[in-house]
Amino acid sequence: MKELIFVTHNAHKADEVKAIINDTFKIKNLSEINFFEDIPETGNTFQDNALQKAKYLHDKIKCNCFADDSGLSVDALHGEPGVLSARYAGEPSNSQRNTEKLLKALKNETNRKAQFITVIAVILDEQIHFFEGSIQGTITKAPQGEGGFGYDPVFIPDGYDKTFAELPSEVKNKISHRAVAMQKFKDFLNSK
Ligand code: IMP
Repeated sequence: MKELIFVTHNAHKADEVKAIINDTFKIKNLSEINFFEDIPETGNTFQDNALQKAKYLHDKIKCNCFADDSGLSVDALHGEPGVLSARYAGEPSNSQRNTEKLLKALKNETNRKAQFITVIAVILDEQIHFFEGSIQGTITKAPQGEGGFGYDPVFIPDGYDKTFAELPSEVKNKISHRAVAMQKFKDFLNSK
C-alpha cells in the first residue's frame, strides 16, 4: 500500500482523515515520521496555505503528501476572517475571543451570510492536485450550543435551524466543508 503523509501536527485531525481514506493509502501524520518542525503558513488564500504546507514537507523529504487549510469567510466582512480564522482576535488562538470579535464586527449588519471553506493540496507522484469543499450558512446574533469547535456556535448551515455546535457531530461530519473536500479527495485516491 502506498504511503501518504498528512502534513499536520494535529493527531485528532489525522485520525479523522485516516478513518475516511486509510483503505486506499496508508496515511501517516508528521509525528509518525518523526518530523517535528513548525510548518510555515503565511499565504493569503486557503489554497496558498495548503500548498505551502505540502510543499514544505515535499521539499524536505520528497514524499507523497497532502495538507489542508480551512476557515470562515463572511460576506459582509469581504471574506474575513478567512486565512486568519484561527488567529482573528490575535495570538494565542482563542475560539471564544474570535467568536466575540466576529459578532461585534457584525453587530449592526443585516447580511449575515458566510461560508466555511476547506482546501486540500496533494502532491502525489510529483503532481499537484487541489480539492475544495464549502458549506453556506448564516452567522447568528449570539453563540448557541456546546458542541464542535471554533466558530461552530455561531454558524447555522443553510437548510437547518441549529448551529454546528447544536447539531449532532454525525450531521456536521456529513455536510461540512471538510467532509465535502475529503470526499472529493477520497474519490480521487480511489481512482488511482
Ligand atoms: P484549520 O485550517 O482546519 O486548522 O482551521 C483554521 C481555523 O478555522 C480554525 O482554528 C477555526 O477557527 C476555523 N474553522 C475551520 N473549520 C471549522 C469548523 O468546522 N468549525 C468551526 N471553525 C472552523
